[in-house]
Amino acid sequence: MITLDQIKSFCSTDPIRFKLAEPFNLEEWTYATDGRIIVRIKRGLETLQTAKEANINPLSAYNGVFTDWFKLPAFEVEPEPVPPEPKRTICNECDGTGDCDCYCPKCDGECEECGGEGEITDLGPKPPPYPIGIIKGTVFNLRFIQKIQRLGEMEWSLGEKGMMAFRNEDCEGRIMAMESKVLNERPAVTLI
Ligand SMILES: [Zn+2]
Ligand SMILES: [Zn+2]
Repeated sequence: MITLDQIKSFCSTDPIRFKLAEPFNLEEWTYATDGRIIVRIKRGLETLQTAKEANINPLSAYNGVFTDWFKLPAFEVEPEPVPPEPKRTICNECDGTGDCDCYCPKCDGECEECGGEGEITDLGPKPPPYPIGIIKGTVFNLRFIQKIQRLGEMEWSLGEKGMMAFRNEDCEGRIMAMESKVLNERPAVTLI
């Protein structure tokens, strides 16, 4: 049985899409989406909002004809790296004084690098790009596929326009493919 916490992991973390940060209900279904994946489970769970309150009509995502259902082989991808806590470090430009000593007439005397604070926020190294995989010639983010598979064993079907459907006895959903040009940027695993 899929729990609310599990379905919540498909919600948006984008502050612009704050209404999609929580699952929502429409009729007997409970939905979660981030705009790239949508999943719904057949028994309604108690959610904080309805589809109307989330300002979304999720039904349009469920159009499309899907035939030829298939299973995906098991695969492993590296877990998503936990972003490091941002660190405050002394500004190298002004050695932590926050001052600018350029004596340029236009200068306000504040270090440009740190805005006069003497410290900068170090976000750490950039995380590696997420793993990609090819499913019947179409490219997908494997982290998403793995996340869906954790909901239980799924059947999959590719539709038009790079949309892939997934379903089991408890839930069904859709995931959008990635543009195939990412294949020029990094290697991909062919799943099927
Ligand atoms: Zn500085
Ligand atoms: Zn200056």
